[in-house]
Amino acid sequence: MNSSKKEVVKFAKMLNDKKLSALRSGNISLRYKNGFLITPSGQKYSSLKEKDIVYINLDGEYNKNQKPSSEWRFHQDIYNSKKNAKAIVHSHSTNATALSTHNKKIPSFHYMVALAGGIDIKCAKYATYGTRELSKNILKALKNRSACLIANHGQITFGQSLSEAFELAEEVDNLAKQYIKALVIGRPKLLSLSEMKKVLSKSKTYKRG
Ligand SMILES: [Zn+2]
Repeated sequence: MNSSKKEVVKFAKMLNDKKLSALRSGNISLRYKNGFLITPSGQKYSSLKEKDIVYINLDGEYNKNQKPSSEWRFHQDIYNSKKNAKAIVHSHSTNATALSTHNKKIPSFHYMVALAGGIDIKCAKYATYGTRELSKNILKALKNRSACLIANHGQITFGQSLSEAFELAEEVDNLAKQYIKALVIGRPKLLSLSEMKKVLSKSKTYKRG
């Protein structure tokens, strides 16, 4: 368990270092045995230690002496509904969050949008943080996708590893930044559905190869 906890601590600190989430906001988790390891509630990542990481099983049970992130429910629900999710990164990254306050999805303004698995990156409907209602909204936006924005909140990504989920989170924020810039000078031209399908099938082959 220790090497997995170490991994969680390493990437939690990177949330700060890579400016994806400031201080203690955002949270990350890694699938482990019949559950997952997640960052704790209300602790600055700069002082995070392995012993602070909390194990929660897939039924949502954990040691009550520990305090997992208050947003652990959507991690549990994603692991339960997506077998290919091995790691999750949730952040309040500036550009994705700014776009989420307009309840806007990221459309096919750039072919890299396909990295999340579809022709756009959806924005989950707002609900209070930590609730099952928010989980439900997130799962809907993640249908056939490995990333989504969360209205008036931030973004979430998952992957085969923390490094994959983390890289996707950086890319989502970058795409949000580019899309916001594009909107400043009018309405950007979007790529067609057939072009996006081409890109999607190319990236699938690329991933397999
Ligand atoms: Zn959050």
